[in-house]
Amino acid sequence: MSILDDNIAKLDGFLSRFRTEGIQNRIAGQDVKGSAGTFQNTSPVDKTLICDVAHGTGVDIDAAADAAHAAFAAWRDMPALARKKILIRIAEGIEARAVEIALCECWDTGQAYKFMSKAALRGAENFRYFADQVVQARDGQHLKSPTLMNITTRVPIGPVGVITPWNTPFMLSTWKIAPALAAGCTVVHKPAEASPLTARLLVEIAEEAGLPPGVLNTVNGFGEEAGKALCENPKIKAIAFVGESRTGSLITKQGADTLKRNHLELGGKNPVIVFDDADLDRALDAAIFMIYSINGERCTSSSRLLVQDTIRDAFEAKLIKRVNNIKVGHPLDPATEIGPLVTEEHFNKVTSYFDIAKEDGATVAAGGVTVGDEGYFVRPTLFTQANNQMRIAQEEIFGPVLTSIPFSTEEEALQIANDIPYGLTGYVWTNDLTRALRFTDKLEAGMIWVNSENVRHLPTPFGGVKASGIGRDGGDWSFDFYMEQKHIGFATGQHKITKLGAL
Ligand code: NAD
Repeated sequence: MSILDDNIAKLDGFLSRFRTEGIQNRIAGQDVKGSAGTFQNTSPVDKTLICDVAHGTGVDIDAAADAAHAAFAAWRDMPALARKKILIRIAEGIEARAVEIALCECWDTGQAYKFMSKAALRGAENFRYFADQVVQARDGQHLKSPTLMNITTRVPIGPVGVITPWNTPFMLSTWKIAPALAAGCTVVHKPAEASPLTARLLVEIAEEAGLPPGVLNTVNGFGEEAGKALCENPKIKAIAFVGESRTGSLITKQGADTLKRNHLELGGKNPVIVFDDADLDRALDAAIFMIYSINGERCTSSSRLLVQDTIRDAFEAKLIKRVNNIKVGHPLDPATEIGPLVTEEHFNKVTSYFDIAKEDGATVAAGGVTVGDEGYFVRPTLFTQANNQMRIAQEEIFGPVLTSIPFSTEEEALQIANDIPYGLTGYVWTNDLTRALRFTDKLEAGMIWVNSENVRHLPTPFGGVKASGIGRDGGDWSFDFYMEQKHIGFATGQHKITKLGAL
């Protein structure tokens, strides 16, 4: 039996209960049907039905928010070490079911097993990391004044909403939910409608680890119904959102009446800038990895290649060769590097850029074609002869599609890099240290790597500028979002209080 056959057989076992029972919402530790019935979840690999999913709406969100509200005080007041133990047990539960999580994620989203096997384990790391922060999360400062001992303390903000997208949904959900739970918040999670499987696994693992009922609730449904209701619910104090920039605007509008605190992690059109003095082999590896891994469906992908004209021809020639070698195939085959795109709608969006590129006057130097007609497969694609005004250079395509744009000087590279509505990440390749410092100082992006691909370090701030988002998480920044700062001043003596109305 090949590894692919073995993975398919294992997946079949994992999916059988979903096929018969579907996926219910999970509210206050109970399975609850969707108030609007069910919707169908299909696989992008072969377009077959995976399972029916509870179609939740505002009614379900309100019930989940009530449950999160009811569970909040006890979870907030649970001793930190007890909460820490539960979070560590969740991490252990994820590790124990990592294969199940990875296979389900691949089938649900089309992501290749090669990458998803690590994404499940990264989810466990997120829980372990924030479990370690629980004990000091509420620590504050003492700020002594002549008359007062001022202290600060942090308290969890209350029940929060977490709204996640379909790209690496398990990892991203843990990235938001782990710090929320560590801070002492309770959660209503609205996963993306296109990828509900692993959100269900996460809430199961959490409850098996001892998370009290109602601390994490999962409501499936569509953004404009369930997601909107979550933003509008007065018992929900904050929304942690990951998704498209235009949805981020809606999140802000929808939460205005209830003065919601929002953290928005949005889209990107990130430049990788390659100067001619760089280690070009490493730059090539990193540029390819950052756009063609995870199907190019990653917010931090380097979707614009800015390459210095002195090395452009040689660099693009090597790039074309490598892109044409990338293996597109069944996502459960461990050799596959690119699987199918997540949905028909997204497939249509990505493939529409093959024509847009030609209309813009660019050259399709590699790919630009679909593969078979069983699922939503495309060849990895490279556009050359492009300029930064073209739609393929300005719009987030969110697939395995790279646009190469030449530049001649450092000033021009910076101008092109910043001439974009987005500002999530940037990748700079140069061996000139002074230039790297100068360039990164001016580059408009929330996260920049020099001579490196995106290597995540959990204590560092994660987030974007411009249309790529508002706010940061990672490290203590996550607690800043999920917690309120409180100041308390204690008089240290009998300081003079101004008397009004005194005789
Ligand atoms: P999306 O914005 O369409 O959907 C994301 C989530 O929002 C889904 O759960 C959806 O149901 C919900 N939603 C949609 N409309 C809503 C509304 N009116 N109110 C409340 N919720 C609503 O995004 P997507 O297509 O699922 O994901 C891809 C996008 O996510 C890309 O733009 C990508 O760059 C971005 N992303 C950003 C980051 C980051 O860290 N910056 C990380 C991953 C993905």
